[in-house]
Amino acid sequence: MAYLSRVRQIRTEQGTDPVSDYDFDLITIGAGSGGVRASRLAASFGAKVAVIEEMREGGTCVLRGCVPKKLFVYGSHFGHDLEDGAGYGWSADNVRHDWPKMIAAKEKELDRLHGIYVNLLENAGATRIHGRGTVVDAHTVAVGDKRYTAEKILIAVGGWPSIPESVEGKEHVITSNEALELPERPDRIVIVGSGFIAVEFAGIFNSFGSETHLVYRADKVLRGFDEDVRNTLTEELTKKGMHLHSGVLPDRIEKVGDAYKVHMNDGSVIEADQVMYATGRHPNTKGLGLAEAGVELDRNGAIKVNEWSQTSVPSIFAVGDVTNRINLTPVAIAEGHCFAETQFNNNPRQADHSDVPSAVFSQPPIGTVGLTEAEAREIYGAIDVYVAGFRPMKYTLTDNPERGMQKLIVDRASDRVVGAHMVGLDAPEIIQGIGIAIKAGATKAEFDATIGIHPTAAEEFVTMRTKRPDPEERQAAE
Ligand code: NDP
Repeated sequence: MAYLSRVRQIRTEQGTDPVSDYDFDLITIGAGSGGVRASRLAASFGAKVAVIEEMREGGTCVLRGCVPKKLFVYGSHFGHDLEDGAGYGWSADNVRHDWPKMIAAKEKELDRLHGIYVNLLENAGATRIHGRGTVVDAHTVAVGDKRYTAEKILIAVGGWPSIPESVEGKEHVITSNEALELPERPDRIVIVGSGFIAVEFAGIFNSFGSETHLVYRADKVLRGFDEDVRNTLTEELTKKGMHLHSGVLPDRIEKVGDAYKVHMNDGSVIEADQVMYATGRHPNTKGLGLAEAGVELDRNGAIKVNEWSQTSVPSIFAVGDVTNRINLTPVAIAEGHCFAETQFNNNPRQADHSDVPSAVFSQPPIGTVGLTEAEAREIYGAIDVYVAGFRPMKYTLTDNPERGMQKLIVDRASDRVVGAHMVGLDAPEIIQGIGIAIKAGATKAEFDATIGIHPTAAEEFVTMRTKRPDPEERQAAE
């Protein structure tokens, strides 16, 4: 029997059941990855749960992020695969891509996934409420003119793309939300930003054949990533024919007929059919009534929580991007899961935010886990660095000049591998496994003792033997 149902049964038998004054044990606002995991689990433990969603159940990842984005990445790759196939003797004539057909197929898949999310909630016994939920007080949520009360409230409303206020003509630009629903593919696109979303969408449009301009204020793409990752990706994007504009930003976007002129702050102008901003996302807390209810927010509007995902109001909790901890779907799911176990299954659990592997589905893709070289140097001082460049075997018979990079960072004192990074074919799939080794505290000696699988790119991670000369030690020796 589910935990809470059993507790209630015992209390009824013993005559100690306090009749709940609340409509629900839990009200969740937001049916994305974190909210749905928490709600269906809490319901399966016997809690009376309501889930409020103003759009469709599924959230950013399923409907406006990871899933449709990855489908587009796959879709855009087929063109290259056909070109590469020529090196293996294939010829494909009259190859065309039908953009509206892909959009329709993607929509069908999203409908299917939305249905799965609805079923998950309904099968667990949760009540679905459609509308915008706002917090009234520590135990009350409003949806339109209706009021619902709950012992606990979970905020899981995610984030939303943000565009800098200062951009003149910002009404002309799209974000990743609209980029996934364009009725036709732009022949020319300007993408502003160089984070996860910017480089992923630049790869997609470039591979589908759009003239793609990436415009960003830094000197290289992907600030915050390991420098070798940044250098390799910047080089590979250029090789793929993308136009990289570093150290500049648009001042003004001018609509000219059906197209746009993007006026840059260095005086240059880029003409495009779409302008997309991928300049970060902000937590969706505006107008939710949180501050009025006493829930503390940080200066970016993210909900401040403790390690139990509990806010400054003890009965209100928050998980996922709205808390701006690590903004990744599996992290939101872990936070939601731990919340439900702790609050509704008498099984206290905290989400572990250390050594979280992640991927960027750029072209070529990136997989990364643990510390960057700069972070490891800061934390451990003496480190050993192993780096290898490689040309994927798949491309040896082709004209494809794409190259990859693999890197291991080792704490010299303990021999523990504290960071692994890869750019190249299958990097996200490979790094998931390396993530287990790093989480388990594997040493470089244990990596070396592992037999490689030949021929793969992954085997490089267990065959790297040559340390890169330490820059400071090299300098001291000179
Ligand atoms: P990121 O934080 O990754 O990147 C934001 C980009 O916008 C950076 O290049 C940043 O520049 C730039 N930027 C920020 N503010 C301004 C400004 N005022 N003017 C000009 N440029 C600006 O955000 P994304 O929107 O790409 O992604 C949001 C989050 O979503 C990610 O951090 C990630 O957590 C998640 N995500 C994960 C994915 C995955 O797992 N594969 C895929 C997509 C998103 P600078 O570097 O100079 O600061």
